[in-house]
Amino acid sequence: MHHVTLPGGASMPTFGLGTWGMGERGARRSDMVAALRLGMDLGVTLIDTAEMYGDGGAESIVGEAIAGRRSKLFLVSKVLPDHATRQGTIAACEQSLARLRTDYLDLYLLHWRGVVPLAETLAGFADLKRSGKIRHWGVSNFDVPDLEELWRLAGDDCAVDQVLYNLACRGIEWNLLPTCRARGIAVMAYSPLEQGRLLTRAALKRIAERRGATAAQVALAWLLRQEGIVAIPKAARLDHLRELAAARDLRLERDDLTALDTGFPPPSGPSALAML
Ligand code: NAP
Repeated sequence: MHHVTLPGGASMPTFGLGTWGMGERGARRSDMVAALRLGMDLGVTLIDTAEMYGDGGAESIVGEAIAGRRSKLFLVSKVLPDHATRQGTIAACEQSLARLRTDYLDLYLLHWRGVVPLAETLAGFADLKRSGKIRHWGVSNFDVPDLEELWRLAGDDCAVDQVLYNLACRGIEWNLLPTCRARGIAVMAYSPLEQGRLLTRAALKRIAERRGATAAQVALAWLLRQEGIVAIPKAARLDHLRELAAARDLRLERDDLTALDTGFPPPSGPSALAML
């Protein structure tokens, strides 16, 4: 399994599973638990969740799924911006830990920037780190100006920026991605399949066919081959999970990459960070 190195030297797996939509009405709990367990059986060691997903329901499913396997996992959760005062961040993290049935998170993220001053959230993260409840902290949906403000306040302590990044949404390649690489921050690519919409695109299907792979595998392999990128697809269906796990073995050739650049052109100028 591949890893990226975080500021401070710790390592983080480059392939994880997302959980958005789990724990919501209509999603069967036992199916979701089984999906995450299959993912872990297939060697996935990172799980991404958030207090927002299913109003805590996703964290509770993750808690059930990871029982007995916690020490092998890199667990990520997120605090909602409205909760992200110093004390609110601590309280939200403690509630997440209870739902996840663990006593620490490997990574805790501010889900997106809200109205609470960043210094408040950072003070909460620092308290949580001191007390051993989180190992690392980071942010999500932060563009370069927000990161620059963060660096002025926190130096190089931020480990990760989790942002929308996939073949159809490459805007971060212009500025955000090189900036994060230069600062040694890992970029977590969320919605790497564009929530499934990417998989119907003809340019992707053509390359997949040529390589004897599926569109989802090509979309993921394209992310996983890039330095400093962590991809966190979500799959509740077991056949989808098996397919995604196999993407780790797919090596794209130069002509595949050229064809992907033609079908999904990189940015030709700056743009605001896209968000879901
Ligand atoms: P995604 O991973 O791009 O796509 C998920 C969709 O793709 C699901 O409908 C899934 O179906 C389908 N799928 C998975 N594997 C497939 C396959 N092999 N073939 C065909 N379809 C397949 O979308 P996402 O859930 O938005 O993003 C992933 C994770 O990123 C989230 O779950 C969440 O943890 C995180 N995220 C973070 C933010 C943020 O603001 N920080 C925002 C969005 C997402 P099934 O589920 O039916 O298998």
